[in-house]
Amino acid sequence: MARLEADVRFAAELRFFLAPRHRGGQMQVACDRVSPLGHVVESLGVPLPEVGSLVVNGAPVMPSYRLAAGDVAEVAAVGRPQRLPSARFILDVHLGTLARRMRLVGLDAAYANDLDDDVLIERANAGRRVLLTQDRGLLRRRSLWLGAYVRGARPDDQLRDVLDRFGPPLAPWTRCTACNGLLTAVPKADVEPLLQPGTRRTYQAFSRCASCGRVYWHGAHGTRLDHIVDSAIRIVAAGRP
Ligand SMILES: [Zn+2]
Repeated sequence: MARLEADVRFAAELRFFLAPRHRGGQMQVACDRVSPLGHVVESLGVPLPEVGSLVVNGAPVMPSYRLAAGDVAEVAAVGRPQRLPSARFILDVHLGTLARRMRLVGLDAAYANDLDDDVLIERANAGRRVLLTQDRGLLRRRSLWLGAYVRGARPDDQLRDVLDRFGPPLAPWTRCTACNGLLTAVPKADVEPLLQPGTRRTYQAFSRCASCGRVYWHGAHGTRLDHIVDSAIRIVAAGRP
């Protein structure tokens, strides 16, 4: 009887998306001559925005390619750093801590904890923002212009993943961690009435959010934030060619 299956092989970086029985990264799929390869890849659990190139029998193909019996398809992970037209992001409702950390290092990271999926996609598309999420269903939505799956459970690991993936230009201490607005330097006299006596005595340099008015002074949160910033700068520098 003729063999009506094709081999599909996934790059190591993509295997955690696969069902446990497929984690070896190689499997045989039935060829129905109808389903495009992109659909086969997604139905095995891997979102297409995570896929770099698709190669069949040694030649690059489009996601619309239909597998034939005996084909060998190789699915590569998206290359890092992934170049973006502009480094603008929007995060889904579960990634609030990551959003604040991205803002701390100056990345444009839109976030609100009350947006449903349709609104998230609308705003991502309208602002040409990359939608960052850990929801594979969102990444499968055809209407989404560009998304990315964030790896890691801890915010440290998530930030590392985003920085390693996109290698975005950083501008620490320039953005409001609360609302994503831009900070501008303000004379101490302008903000003095808003400060606690201890802060008034200790700090001289202040900035204020142009959007929400929140006042910032460097050193307000001690060395913890310095550490996050230093580590972010190192991660991006390490990824530069
Ligand atoms: Zn603000």
